[in-house]
Amino acid sequence: MAMDSTTLAIAGATFASGAALGMAFTMSKVLDVASRQQVVVASAPAPEAASGKRARGSDEPVVPAEIDSLRPGFTMEEARAQADKGQAVAMKRNPKDVLEALQRGNVRFWTGSATRPEKSAFERRALIGKQFPATAILSCSDSRVPTEIVFDQGLGDMFVVRCAGNAVTETTCGSLQYAVNHLKVKVLMVMGHEGCGAVKAAGLPEEALRGEPKELCKCLMDLKDGLDFERLKCVEDTRAHDREAVISNVKQQVWRLTEDEGIMKKVDAKELIIIGAFYEISSGIVDFFFEVSSSESLPDRGVDSIFDFKKGMERQASGVEQPIKRRRQA
Ligand SMILES: [Zn+2]
Repeated sequence: MAMDSTTLAIAGATFASGAALGMAFTMSKVLDVASRQQVVVASAPAPEAASGKRARGSDEPVVPAEIDSLRPGFTMEEARAQADKGQAVAMKRNPKDVLEALQRGNVRFWTGSATRPEKSAFERRALIGKQFPATAILSCSDSRVPTEIVFDQGLGDMFVVRCAGNAVTETTCGSLQYAVNHLKVKVLMVMGHEGCGAVKAAGLPEEALRGEPKELCKCLMDLKDGLDFERLKCVEDTRAHDREAVISNVKQQVWRLTEDEGIMKKVDAKELIIIGAFYEISSGIVDFFFEVSSSESLPDRGVDSIFDFKKGMERQASGVEQPIKRRRQA
């Protein structure tokens, strides 16, 4: 780093205070320290100094903006190095670890001990150049389902795609493909939720849906196609019925993702887990099910079932299997 007179002045001031404490610094040592930018850090700048201004009428040495910007963690180089480091760590995580971290985050949320990890200004700066989220999630647009909050995740942690009824469409699928192929996320989740108005509306008669604007009608008709009404009419309890409808929609969307060659390549290489989830608004708890992962015969810890898409079978943790019907989707 090039030294200028101001840096030397600060280094000198630090040297003087060190000498007063009887510390046997040599000037070269101080200069060395200054060159590593530690001296500037040790003297916290006044607000005027931080913006590079000299206090009016004061002879105090000031810290010009160009020097202040050299504080550790405040240069773009350091921000980039921080991002590279974070990315290297993120790339080494395996899908199971990421899934477990999401499960722990949700427990923190519903037990009222969320950490709300907010990044510092420096960490935000480190995120300017790149992102490396570990999870991609397709969730509902519903205002009561803010994904990062529900999983107690921070900035840069989740790649979030939301649309009414968390449906895999050309647009949402394209975004998820980007997350899988380019950002290399480790977990791909489809999350439905309690009280989903979109799924409920999809259960209305077709004539009622035809009264909606064209795009909304199409969106609801696509969801309708994914619902198994034969099965749903056997569920009498309203709450259970709604939950069943949402869960069966999530399973259809997960199934659709398994038809994507690029996504399944990552699953086969054990680089990705696909998973379904249900968020219960009332309790804040997320249930996980319908896991798609390579060569696993039973679901991971904290996951209710696994989906064998080749056989069209869902297998519970107990080993009980049941066939799943693939519904037609647009
Ligand atoms: Zn919804």
